[in-house]
Amino acid sequence: MSLAFRRLEDADVDGKRVLVRVDFNVPMQDGKVSDDTRLRAALPTIKALQWRGAKVILLAHFDRPKGKRVPSMSLAPVAPALAKLLEADVAFADDCVGDTAKAAIEKLPRGRVLLLENTRFHAGEETNDPALAAAMGDLGDLYVNDAFSAAHRAHASTEGLARVLPAYAGKCMEAELDALNRALGDPQRPVMGVVGGSKVSTKLDLLRNLVTKLDRLAIGGGMANTFLYAQGWEIGASYCEKDLAETARDIIRLAGRNKCELLLPIDIIVSERLAPGAPARVRGLGEMDDDERILDAGPETISRLTRAMDDSRTLIWNGPLGVFETPPFDHGTVAAARHAARRAASGRLVAVAGGGDTVAALNHAGVADDFTFVSTAGGAFLEWMEGKPLPGVEALKP
Ligand code: ADP
Ligand code: MG
Repeated sequence: MSLAFRRLEDADVDGKRVLVRVDFNVPMQDGKVSDDTRLRAALPTIKALQWRGAKVILLAHFDRPKGKRVPSMSLAPVAPALAKLLEADVAFADDCVGDTAKAAIEKLPRGRVLLLENTRFHAGEETNDPALAAAMGDLGDLYVNDAFSAAHRAHASTEGLARVLPAYAGKCMEAELDALNRALGDPQRPVMGVVGGSKVSTKLDLLRNLVTKLDRLAIGGGMANTFLYAQGWEIGASYCEKDLAETARDIIRLAGRNKCELLLPIDIIVSERLAPGAPARVRGLGEMDDDERILDAGPETISRLTRAMDDSRTLIWNGPLGVFETPPFDHGTVAAARHAARRAASGRLVAVAGGGDTVAALNHAGVADDFTFVSTAGGAFLEWMEGKPLPGVEALKP
């Protein structure tokens, strides 16, 4: 079953003024776009609208100007970078509402693209001021949201505006929602999760939600130390949130009640130094010296994890299993990632992953392209994994 939301293909856009919320919060250096990944991501929606005869009017935020006009946070440099990718002119208006924007839209021919200035130059953007949403709504006939990464925020251009105009998901948003739905909304079972990363504290809601939805969940990375400590194992000088031991035990009990099999580490890689090429030793649980730290998952843990992947039809992954930035402590993460990628590439596993460091780890392992879907949405992805409704997505539901 697919998720219910209004899709771009259902909209009649011919000759219409279409306001498209995109994520153009791109890295810039010396006033130039230094990484155009996010611009490329918006191309399918922009091109589809151009092709179908719409006036394409792009709305986006950039950085954190906090409701004031900050010249260094202008979106103006994005217009030429986008024009290059589209091989067509991209007009720019230096306000996202009012007469300047209206005049630019009047002049815009069908099939052409106009970028409006940073929505966050207006204080009403982040407060989701209905007056600002109405002013944006005055500019267009339809609204398309293609910025999943901003959908966890109820802002005027991500939520308010969707209540003012007929609202649809763009192609990027659609791909993201369909992938997430396949992984956690309505997955093929058994469905397993892998959660790693440094801290339990940043992922409590996520763990609590996942144990109610998954058939099995592997916990790794630094956060696994807290679980091992909570179960009474020696963890030496490892990173650990000792005050969360009871919380970890609660999560273990919650998993038990929900028949979610928890896979905690059964062996570990330790070292007294976190440095490239530092000597790494395989140890059983509890076999640690006081000055040693757990920095990666052990080989038995990884082979049990990959066997669990073989027994699963769906995988959802957030958080590296070790300190992958510092080899050799990347071994566990890389081995697990490559295994998941092979299963996904051969069609035997739906493998979905997300999270800033997780994306970096999958790229490090060279397997991001083989995963079924890799979300670069950061905060929105994590809130979705926590089971929270995303205001920008809710507003697209029929
Ligand atoms: P994401 O950004 O994908 O959500 P996190 O930010 O939660 O992931 O976690 C990533 C970090 O966790 C990485 O910087 C990695 O080095 C760290 N990490 C993984 N395992 C350990 C460990 N055993 N000890 C300390 N840090 C760890
Ligand atoms: Mg991170």
